[in-house]
Amino acid sequence: MDKAKRLKALHEKWLSECTCGLKKTATQGVPGHGNADATIIFIGEAPGAKEDAGGKPFVGAAGKFLDEMLASIKMKREDIYITNLVKYRPPENRDPTPKEISECSLWLKEEVELIDPTLIITLGRYAMNNFFPEKKISESHGEIFTTESLGKVRYILPLYHPAAALYNGALRETLKKDFKKIPKILKKLEQNSKS
Ligand code: URA
Repeated sequence: MDKAKRLKALHEKWLSECTCGLKKTATQGVPGHGNADATIIFIGEAPGAKEDAGGKPFVGAAGKFLDEMLASIKMKREDIYITNLVKYRPPENRDPTPKEISECSLWLKEEVELIDPTLIITLGRYAMNNFFPEKKISESHGEIFTTESLGKVRYILPLYHPAAALYNGALRETLKKDFKKIPKILKKLEQNSKS
């Protein structure tokens, strides 16, 4: 079976088996979406109202801004894979609790292992703190870190969340600058993995 089919099967399995408490209030699950052969996975926090209604991640205002930033580095949504820490919308868009994040964590680990990206980009504090609980986004954005919590040594680039940057001009400029680092970082990691 090719990767895209295995990914579809993985999401179908988890949509029926996930025991996340958020399932009771959400309209539907919002599994990760995009290219199963992507070299970059973006990880956000949780679906919002638009994602809950449409069943796809990052389709609202934050997603539109993300698309603009992807275009600034000559990439499209079809080139990447994007997912969230939790796959169900928390009521009133509250932050997901540690328990809810841990209930969806095996789903996230399995999708990352299947896609096996060169680079993982976390969007916002919550996604970053899932891997590095002690780090502060204001000090760590735009820097590369490694984790072994996702099956093997993986490279993580924490960025500010596009939703936060939408309403804060200074953050928006920082996020745009950090985004421009992505092609170089990816190239370097790809070269290192070959040597
Ligand atoms: N914000 C997120 O973190 N994820 C989405 O899917 C949408 C908005």
